[in-house]
Amino acid sequence: MAARIIDGKAIAAEIRAGIKDKIALLRANNGPVPGLAVILVGEDPASQTYVRNKERACQAVGMHSEVYRLPRDTNQGKLLELIDELNGRSDIHGILVQLPVPEQIETAAIINAIRPEKDVDGFHPVNVGRLMVGEPAMIPCTPQGIMALLDHSGVELTGKKAVVVGRSNIVGKPVALLLLQRHATVTICHSRTKDLAGHTRQADVLVVATGRPGTITGEMVKEGAVVIDVGVNRVEGGLVGDVAFDEVANKAAAITPVPGGVGPMTITMLLQNTLQAATGVW
Ligand code: NDP
Repeated sequence: MAARIIDGKAIAAEIRAGIKDKIALLRANNGPVPGLAVILVGEDPASQTYVRNKERACQAVGMHSEVYRLPRDTNQGKLLELIDELNGRSDIHGILVQLPVPEQIETAAIINAIRPEKDVDGFHPVNVGRLMVGEPAMIPCTPQGIMALLDHSGVELTGKKAVVVGRSNIVGKPVALLLLQRHATVTICHSRTKDLAGHTRQADVLVVATGRPGTITGEMVKEGAVVIDVGVNRVEGGLVGDVAFDEVANKAAAITPVPGGVGPMTITMLLQNTLQAATGVW
């Protein structure tokens, strides 16, 4: 079977067009113009690219954005002061600190300082807790993007067996909770899981987020499964995911490519969270 390719680029473009329309409507009605503040500490090249992409995406949908580029040796107090100021501004609805931060800064202290309703990354413990108990929350962008891909592709989740490979706080755990909320029966696997293939072969929906190319091969996938490859790995010759694409595509019913699958959805969901923060709809 040749899998249907889940086109993250096209789905992201469609959602961004909807966000753009909503912002135009807010502007026309003198409503709040969603505003996102992004803070980057240091000059890490990958982080600089991510921040530039976020800035461009905001501009493309008519959102207000501010980028604060702070020197690498910025101390925690200075960063907390800036977050405090942004927390108090009524024209800034979303605050994001690009991770990782340099070692003199404690990541948890920074995440905890952002007001939960402005925490558009969904990393604040209040939002994590709300997600856990099923209350309206800021949902982390990549897991939310994965769910949007599944929904836009018409994948039914109720009663399905979902297997998530990876248990990070930003991808694996939250996506498992979201799948559970949608009535899938969820298994979370990780590096200490015994007989990984025994689990993955049972999956109707398989989400892979390990950061290891080739984690999932063709023989580890059930015929007709839906496979979401979250991995982004730079190898000689370009970017690859965590799934051996060609052999898995021969067995799966649908699969996300890398690049062009989950990747474009992450910033799209950041825009959506910022819009949600501006309109107060939690
Ligand atoms: P982490 O490194 O935080 O977590 C990786 C997880 O995978 C861990 O839970 C680890 O297990 C597990 N793991 C590692 N190797 C194996 C293995 N061989 N078998 C089973 N489980 C394994 O990564 P992230 O969750 O942050 O990211 C995962 C991937 O997704 C990366 O490639 C990252 O670049 C990509 N990513 C892509 C995004 C996008 O927008 N497209 C956004 C975020 C991430 P253990 O806990 O036991 O160590």
